[in-house]
Amino acid sequence: MLDLAHLRDRNRMVDVQIARRGVRDRHVLDAMRRVPREAFVEPGFEEFAYEDGPLPIGEGQTISQPYIVALMIEASEVKPGDNVLEVGAGSGYAAAVMSQIADRVYTIERHPSLGNFARQRFKKLGYDNIELRVGDGTRGWPEAAPFDAIPVAAGGPEVPPALKEQLAIGGRLVIPVGEEERYQTLIKLTRKSDTQFEEENLGAVAFVPLIG
Ligand code: SAM
Repeated sequence: MLDLAHLRDRNRMVDVQIARRGVRDRHVLDAMRRVPREAFVEPGFEEFAYEDGPLPIGEGQTISQPYIVALMIEASEVKPGDNVLEVGAGSGYAAAVMSQIADRVYTIERHPSLGNFARQRFKKLGYDNIELRVGDGTRGWPEAAPFDAIPVAAGGPEVPPALKEQLAIGGRLVIPVGEEERYQTLIKLTRKSDTQFEEENLGAVAFVPLIG
């Protein structure tokens, strides 16, 4: 009964908060209809899992607003067959959504407690194409590079050079950049060659700080 209610709320979330706001990528919409967001919030917050906003997950961090998760994944153009690196696993929700689209998802979280909870969720839900590492995501994951898509779920003053280096030719890096905490510009870099990157400005966003 509860699962049916969550399923209805999840479909409504995708229709009203995401598709109606302009996200068109079928892979993203379908994946977000499949992943149970209620399994990624803190115990006691399940009834708020499909609300239109971020929620606390401990360590002063948040699971991002569903629309922002969709926007980041659409902007990163995550596709079947892709090798993806996410910086800032948090609850693991965005990695779980991407795991339903891409071939493989590597995700890094700096807080060990959050990383452990996210790992447990992946295991429980059977998402076996995700690997999580606890550490500083600004250094990337060189052994698993190059990546077709690198969404960064926290904002810093500049684009970490290691992440640019680990992008495949044609790969997309989407990252909030700005000096201020919780006020950044979402930047998309597409790697055109070894040395050339095309830059697009995707508008103002408010992310937790990227530490590292
Ligand atoms: N994608 C997450 C989700 O679906 O729940 C939301 C992540 S939250 C907005 C951003 C996360 O980035 C936080 O959990 C924070 O600890 C993490 N973070 C910040 N700086 C980091 C870094 N240098 N390396 C790895 N994780 C980092």
